[in-house]
Amino acid sequence: MKKNPLSINENRPFEAESFLILVVDDVTKNLQLVMEILEQIGYETTFATSGTKALERLKTVKPDLILLDLMMPDMGGLEVCEILKADPQYQKIPVIFLTASNEQESLIDAFAKGAVDYVTKPFHSAELLARVRTHLELKQARDALHEAYEALERLVVVDPLTGVSNRRAIDAFAQEEYDRAQRYKTHFSVLMIDLDHFKNVNDLYGHYIGDECLKIVAEKLNNSLRTVDQFGRFGGEEFVAILPETSLTEAIKVAERLRIAVNQLVPDLKDFSSSLSVSIGVSGFQEKDQSPMDIFKRADKALYEAKEMGRNLVRANPSEVSA
Ligand code: GH3
Ligand code: MG
Ligand code: MG
Repeated sequence: MKKNPLSINENRPFEAESFLILVVDDVTKNLQLVMEILEQIGYETTFATSGTKALERLKTVKPDLILLDLMMPDMGGLEVCEILKADPQYQKIPVIFLTASNEQESLIDAFAKGAVDYVTKPFHSAELLARVRTHLELKQARDALHEAYEALERLVVVDPLTGVSNRRAIDAFAQEEYDRAQRYKTHFSVLMIDLDHFKNVNDLYGHYIGDECLKIVAEKLNNSLRTVDQFGRFGGEEFVAILPETSLTEAIKVAERLRIAVNQLVPDLKDFSSSLSVSIGVSGFQEKDQSPMDIFKRADKALYEAKEMGRNLVRANPSEVSA
C-alpha cells in the first residue's frame, strides 16, 4: 500500500548515540562502571556525584534518562526524585534507581516517588542495558505520540496555505463569543473580508502568485488586528475577523483601517504590478440572534452590498451606522 506522505513517523529507529543519560552516584567507582557500560553501546553520558549536583547539572543538560543512586549522603535519591517529579520541566524524564541488594524495602518508596525501574548493584551490564533501552524506547514512543498529537491539533485549526486559523477554528471562536455575549450582555462584531476580483489575479499571474497574494493579505490583516481579535480564512479568498467587546461603529473603523492596509500593499512578487483590494461586510451581535450564523449572514449581506457598490469598500448591516 502506498504510504501517505503526511503520515507521522512513529517508528523512529533506536539510535543509542542520540540519547543522553545522566548517572548520579556518590561512589566514583560505580559511576565509572555504569558510564563505561553505557558508552560501549554508544550512549552519551554525563554524571553528578551528589543529589545537589545532579539538580545543578539539570540546569544545563537535558538528559533523556537518569540513573539515580538510592543512597547518597547529603541528598538521597528519593528526595532528588521527588523534586524532579514535582517540576514540570523534569517530570517526564524517566528515573531508574541504582540500589544495593539490602535496600530493597526502599523500592516501594522509590516507585511511589515516580521511579520507572531499578537496577541492583553489583551491576550486570546486560540487565542494566536492557532496562535502560526499554525505558528509552518508551520515552521515544511517548515523545513521538506527543509530537503527533500537537501536529494533529495544529492541522485541525490552522489553514495550511496562510497559517492563520481555519474555518473550523473561526466557527468555534464565533460560538464562544456568541455564548459570552448572550450570557454577560457583552458585545462583539464580525468582519467578512473578501478580495476583490481575485479571479483576475489568478488569470493574469497564475495560481502560484495568487496563493502568494493570499498569504501576504492574510498576514497583513492578521497583523493589523489586536491580539484579542480572532482572524482566519473562511475559505477561498475570503477572511473573517471576530472582534470581542467591539461595537458596530468601532468595528466599521477597524474594517476601514484593514481595507486601506490591503489597498496599500505592494506585493514583492515577480512581475506583479496590480493593486489588491478587499470589500468588507460588518455586523454586530444583537440580542435577538439565535446563533453566530445570524451575525455572519448580516455581515455577508453587507459584503454583497459593498461589492455591488463598486468594491474596495466597507459596508455595515444594519447600514444606518455605516461610515
Ligand atoms: P469578487 O470581487 O466579486 O469577489 O470577485 P472574485 O474574482 O474575487 O470572486 P470569485 O468568487 O468570482 O472568484 C474567487 C477567486 O478566488 C477564484 C478562485 O480561483 C480564487 N481562489 C479561491 N481560493 C484560492 C486559493 O486558494 N488560491 C488561489 N490562488 N486562488 C483562489
Ligand atoms: Mg472575491
Ligand atoms: Mg469570494
